[in-house]
Amino acid sequence: MNAGQKVLESAQVIIRKTAEKMGLDEEMIKRLIEPEFAHEFALTITMDSGTKKVFKGWRIQHNSALGPYKGGIRFHPDTVREEVQALATLMSIKCAVAGLPYGGGKGGIVVEPKKLSKGELERLSRAFASRIAHVIGEDVDVPAPDVNTTPEIMSWMLDEYQKIIGRKSPATFTGKPVSMGGSLGRTEATGRGGLFVLLSLLSKLNKKSEGTTVAVQGFGNVGYYFAKLASEVGFKVVAISDSKSGVYDKDGVDLDRALKNKKEKGTVSYGKAISNEELLELDVDVLVPAALENMVNDKNMAKIKAEIIVEMANGPLTQEAYEFLAKKGVVIIPDVLANAGGVTVSYLEWVQGKAGYFWSEKEVNDKLKIMMDKAFEAIWDRSVEKKIPLKQAAFEVAIERITSALV
Ligand code: GLU
Repeated sequence: MNAGQKVLESAQVIIRKTAEKMGLDEEMIKRLIEPEFAHEFALTITMDSGTKKVFKGWRIQHNSALGPYKGGIRFHPDTVREEVQALATLMSIKCAVAGLPYGGGKGGIVVEPKKLSKGELERLSRAFASRIAHVIGEDVDVPAPDVNTTPEIMSWMLDEYQKIIGRKSPATFTGKPVSMGGSLGRTEATGRGGLFVLLSLLSKLNKKSEGTTVAVQGFGNVGYYFAKLASEVGFKVVAISDSKSGVYDKDGVDLDRALKNKKEKGTVSYGKAISNEELLELDVDVLVPAALENMVNDKNMAKIKAEIIVEMANGPLTQEAYEFLAKKGVVIIPDVLANAGGVTVSYLEWVQGKAGYFWSEKEVNDKLKIMMDKAFEAIWDRSVEKKIPLKQAAFEVAIERITSALV
């Protein structure tokens, strides 16, 4: 089974188990599991050398009961159809958990973007936008960034889309640069939202952020801002890592230095190096997997020492690892809640774009806090009331909200 199939199976198993417990019938379960549309295409672009190259891509629109499909587009060499479908499925749950008027979708292209020139990357992004142009729209499907996609990529895609439809439609893409109708606070939003959720959890557990040790795996947009904002409110971020290597510092990692290294040398490394595997197994209070799927799995789950795990990546724990750690008593904040800050500020960007009226960064951050706190409270209450883990509670609440809108 490939990694994509694994994450798809995990998502479908938890939906099925939760739905069965809720007494839903088989046809309703199918409606929650099967994607409504799955667009698959080949994109051909001219490379700088003059030759043509073909790239495979998808846009999978999973469920639209609560509103237009919503979700990012990832550029990754290991992306497969099942992975995109799994992530689209998780978006349906995530948007429902966050209380957003959206369904779930996801896009992906099989590509190693680091191997493309800027011109090639732009042509590929535009080719993707032109392929999906006829199946997206501000009230149909609203794409956004995901792994390896940036505000600049969104600006190319939106530009291409607007040329095709012959009018402006800024709310069709979120995660845009602010100059093109993006929202202040969107870039930091996933990290910031995760921090709000972690702080809410600590307050329920009567714990404090000061001195609490944290290890963050992944130093992309999500991992970097989570680590930075967490250290600003007193957490001690003792380890971080990127796809190549990591840094451990018991007194707290110098995040500015790590970022500078990443920009200049391509890796965060300085001082005491640590591998990605070692980072996951550190004796810290909070482990934050913020990279890719299946990072905590049957091979390393028994070595995890953290008491709290915040799933900032999508699907970083396999189903097996999740069950093992939950049984052991580890408190796991599931991805569909922990990383919902990104799509929540995407929603705020969409609202601003539709209205043509823009908020200050403080207004955006304040609204994000209100929405994340509300999402957390509903899941926490369900978890306490039914004595079930947060993940199960999140899926239950989401499925309830989705099915109540399925006629
Ligand atoms: N790609 C992000 C996620 O997985 C953001 C999606 C969005 O803003 O639509 O949640």
